[in-house]
Amino acid sequence: MDKKRVYTFGNGKAEGKADMRNLLGGKGANLAEMNLIGVPVPPGFTITTEVCQEYFDLGRDRVVELLKEDVEAAIKNIETLVNAKFGDVENPLLVSVRSGARASMPGMMDTILNLGLNDEVVEGLIRKTGNDRFVWDSYRRFVQMYGDVVLGMKPVNKEDIDPFEAIIEKVKQEAGVRLDNELSVDNLKDLVKRFKAAVKAQTGCDFPTSAVDQLWGAVMAVFDSWMNERAILYRKMEGIPAEWGTAVNVQAMVFGNMGNTSATGVCFSRDAATGENLFNGEYLINAQGEDVVAGVRTPQQITKIGSQRWAERAGISEEERASKYPSMEEAMPEIYNELNRLQQQLEDHYRDMQDMEFTVQEGKLWFLQTRNGKRTGRAMVKIAMDLLAEGKISEEEAVLRVEPNKLDELLHPVFDKKALLSAKVLTKGLPASPGAATGRIAFFADDAAKMAESGEPIILVRLETSPEDLAGMTVSEGILTARGGMTSHAAVVARGMGKCCVSGAGALHVDYKNRTVEIEGHEFKEGDWISLNGSTGEVYEGKVETRAAEMDADFAKLMDLADKYTKLKVRTNADTPHDAAIARSFGAVGIGLCRTEHMFFEGEKIKAMREMILAENQEDRVKALKKILPYQQDDFKGIFKAMDGFPVTVRLLDPPLHEFVPHDIAGQQAMADQMGVSIQKIQHRVEALCEANPMLGHRGCRLGNTYPEITEMQTRAILGACLELKKEGVKCFPEIMVPLTGILYEFQNQETVIRQAAEKLFEEKGDRIDFKVGTMIEIPRAALTADRIASRAEFFSFGTNDLTQMTFGYSRDDIASFLPVYLEKKILKVDPFQVLDQKGVGKLVRMATENGRAVRPDLKCGICGEHGGEPSSVKFCHRVGLNYVSCSPFRVPIARLAAAQAAIEDKK
Ligand code: PEP
Ligand code: MG
Repeated sequence: MDKKRVYTFGNGKAEGKADMRNLLGGKGANLAEMNLIGVPVPPGFTITTEVCQEYFDLGRDRVVELLKEDVEAAIKNIETLVNAKFGDVENPLLVSVRSGARASMPGMMDTILNLGLNDEVVEGLIRKTGNDRFVWDSYRRFVQMYGDVVLGMKPVNKEDIDPFEAIIEKVKQEAGVRLDNELSVDNLKDLVKRFKAAVKAQTGCDFPTSAVDQLWGAVMAVFDSWMNERAILYRKMEGIPAEWGTAVNVQAMVFGNMGNTSATGVCFSRDAATGENLFNGEYLINAQGEDVVAGVRTPQQITKIGSQRWAERAGISEEERASKYPSMEEAMPEIYNELNRLQQQLEDHYRDMQDMEFTVQEGKLWFLQTRNGKRTGRAMVKIAMDLLAEGKISEEEAVLRVEPNKLDELLHPVFDKKALLSAKVLTKGLPASPGAATGRIAFFADDAAKMAESGEPIILVRLETSPEDLAGMTVSEGILTARGGMTSHAAVVARGMGKCCVSGAGALHVDYKNRTVEIEGHEFKEGDWISLNGSTGEVYEGKVETRAAEMDADFAKLMDLADKYTKLKVRTNADTPHDAAIARSFGAVGIGLCRTEHMFFEGEKIKAMREMILAENQEDRVKALKKILPYQQDDFKGIFKAMDGFPVTVRLLDPPLHEFVPHDIAGQQAMADQMGVSIQKIQHRVEALCEANPMLGHRGCRLGNTYPEITEMQTRAILGACLELKKEGVKCFPEIMVPLTGILYEFQNQETVIRQAAEKLFEEKGDRIDFKVGTMIEIPRAALTADRIASRAEFFSFGTNDLTQMTFGYSRDDIASFLPVYLEKKILKVDPFQVLDQKGVGKLVRMATENGRAVRPDLKCGICGEHGGEPSSVKFCHRVGLNYVSCSPFRVPIARLAAAQAAIEDKK
């Protein structure tokens, strides 16, 4: 038998059902389901999404042939159910034709209402309804929609005016009226006449009069709209494949524009913004669906409480509200009661918040659509927790109901919605660290610190940042850079601090000398206001008010549930006691990466560090390192204390030494004065440290292997801190991590230095402590020889920032220069520094884990690159069998939720 292409529904029967959304589209599947559960829906039929593909493969004529018989039968079915005839003059059936894809694509594709009208049918319908205004109003709407959508009269360029709208404006002007609904019947007739003339003039053809021709035209236009520019763009944004196609839904028309007992509206079973369990929505009396959306008239609230809240916000008195803007609950109480009952029935049936469309035709309520409603992050959490408490969904379902990334909205400040409406976007960079920030521009770290003293919020604007800017970043609300990708210094550090950051905004022209920045023709000086959205990468002109994040009981409940189901542990990347404490409050169970280099930039530490760098022999280096030791030990004490018995992985010094010396003359002079040496000496050293490829240069364990005294000092500082804390009764689980290992012997040598330094310390102190020695796996060669490395290393931590950099050969600091083009050309689907490349980099992670564990079955494996807080990457880590992921403190909750979802999905 040939496959089924048309599915009918109506009067409590349906050939489809809710779980057939792939074939019938979301709208079609739910229209069928509503019939099956007794919700009143105008009868109709759905042409499947498969036909959409056939249309593009076989063309219009062949598809009409394939559909003809079934469509005719389905139309007959509607005719019987509503007792009217398609194309008949005396008792005409009018239909709507709507698109409906598998995933909701609001407003992206086309709709045609009132189909089946022509000059004779209009007369017949007037005789039948006795309502000439309604009929002519419907006719003019139909000719316009059909002309725009099917006959291609809608201007391609959105700046151009729609020819029909131009005619409406002219007629309104001639009639001396302001609103569409003030047009007289004669005006409406005039409109239809002029519309048809415009069709003839523009297309060379008469407006089609046959209902059947109109129907085929509309069906094919809906298929065509799957490929319109808007739809293509939306699919790209949402990652919806073009092969899915759209279904077409044809339904008997019901009219909300038949007078004052008719209406149309949209409603939600709960509040989509807050999640509150409060039925709400808007409606318009005597109107058709698109009027609510188009904003021609101001819709009124459905519920009394909604209406009262609206009036309060608008400053309207209760008296005025009740008389001028009554809610549906007050104006049409019977219909309202039915609507309220049915919305609850739909929510109970779908077990989720519903977004519904309805029409009231002369006192009779019809549902035209229901779907799971879109909602904010806050609402998403509240609704999931409420539905669980109401016994409507299981714990697993509640965990799966929340998109991990949406938690960001609950963790960081956001822009005030109202303020955002009038804010002007200047440019867009990379969304490097989420949240919203507004403040005055500072270009230098020390200026930022000074300006912040007066209590002003600061936005640090830099070409790029380096560890020297740390103090400035700490006092700023947000960071904006012209260069650098998602794992650039600015991005990584900002995420660690939970600060908003936009990086790689190429349109910025920073002039440090004059302390100005030019963005798309606008010049800003130090002290001027600017605002950033680190979640979207948008940069706004001036001050845009923000709202602080609030965490609530629902969030805590969700996190508890996540922990109940998760297998993967979530640690944090933190290098200060403050960040460690934040991460603990978000539920981190250890530190997966403590980058020790960030500790060297404060006060006396940088002095001693620079002394060490300037040292010309080992003896002088050791002397300088001795000065650093007590500071390091103190720093580690703070961190171990904050982690209070949870494991802490401390990484030995990693970045190239040139990052610790100033590169500008003023800075070099200051350093020379401080150290009591000539500026030339400093400059010599700086020059000597310069490398053509610093990322591939003298860094990571190459430092510790050439200067083992650094490794010795750091080992003493880490274990010395733990021994002191042991005396205070604080439990410590130190894990010492060697960075950038590529060869077993690189690791082995470092391990020997570490173990010897430890033994020496234990002997001196007369006490000891257990510790582990492991390595980062961030060089492809390390991943490829993981079995050898695991013969000595007690744990692996995948540094997927460097591993991505070296696997792709993309500089993590310079990817912004070509990434947008690569995304545009679809060479890359996503930024691999944000989302783990499972096929390539992920393959190395999987292989190294398996090969490492083959040699050492209890090898602890984790990830500490930026991917450790990205949901799809976290899920991958679960599937590979890692023990933990480690991410910046503010991403801990996101990772915990994603990890729990991965475990639940696995079980299924
Ligand atoms: C990494 O390379 O993934 C990593 C965590 O180290 P860093 O970002 O400090 O190079
Ligand atoms: Mg690294």
